[in-house]
Amino acid sequence: MYGIVLLGAPGAGKGTQAVLLSKDLRIPHISSGDLFRENIKNQTELGKQAQQYLDRGDLVPDEITIGMVRERLSRPDTARGFILDGFPRTIPQADALAQLLRELGKCITIVPYIRVRERMLMERLSHRWTCRDCGAVFSYESVPPREGCKKDVCTGELYQRSDDNPETQARRIRIYQEQTAPLIDYYRNLGLLREVNGEHTIPYVHHLLRQLIMTSHECD
Ligand code: AMP
Ligand code: ZN
Repeated sequence: MYGIVLLGAPGAGKGTQAVLLSKDLRIPHISSGDLFRENIKNQTELGKQAQQYLDRGDLVPDEITIGMVRERLSRPDTARGFILDGFPRTIPQADALAQLLRELGKCITIVPYIRVRERMLMERLSHRWTCRDCGAVFSYESVPPREGCKKDVCTGELYQRSDDNPETQARRIRIYQEQTAPLIDYYRNLGLLREVNGEHTIPYVHHLLRQLIMTSHECD
């Protein structure tokens, strides 16, 4: 069982790396941000509750977020493991996750922390284009090519997330520093944290992550 929690600021490359690892290890990539965006697109009750928070770049309240992740982690495709991306983002969420995994008979085996300096985060977020259909992300300094998404056979339209605009970006990074960065010490104290330099190329960061994960321990 692989229980992987990816830590890192917005723009550190968690989503990109999670997609690659998910293919490699054949375990699901669970992105709380993608789950929220899907619910908003489908206008579900949860989506309606979450929308205002995402628009502002604020965190969705813990009760809503934890409930959503609980449901996702309870599905049978997580039997061999999971990769969490964007959750937990607060200490109460981390405590709730520990409790939930105990109930499900699972555990966290490793917490890679993808470290990227702040200036590079802002730059990456402003060049980030997301596929409307599959959620894949691409980096383009100006307008992306007209063909749209190039992930597998997808041809979805690329757009810039409204929460990637400069003001919301800065706000998300500040919230990250205040509420999420304390999780670095939280998982370090549990002996689960491993640091990776996220400023390398995508394939090299992937290689580093794989090496770490292959040497991670099993659940008790
Ligand atoms: P992300 O795609 O990870 O950048 O998340 C996009 C937005 O979804 C965040 O800015 C929050 O509004 C919301 N969100 C995602 N994950 C969480 C979480 N674990 N707790 C609270 N809000 C979240
Ligand atoms: Zn796509």
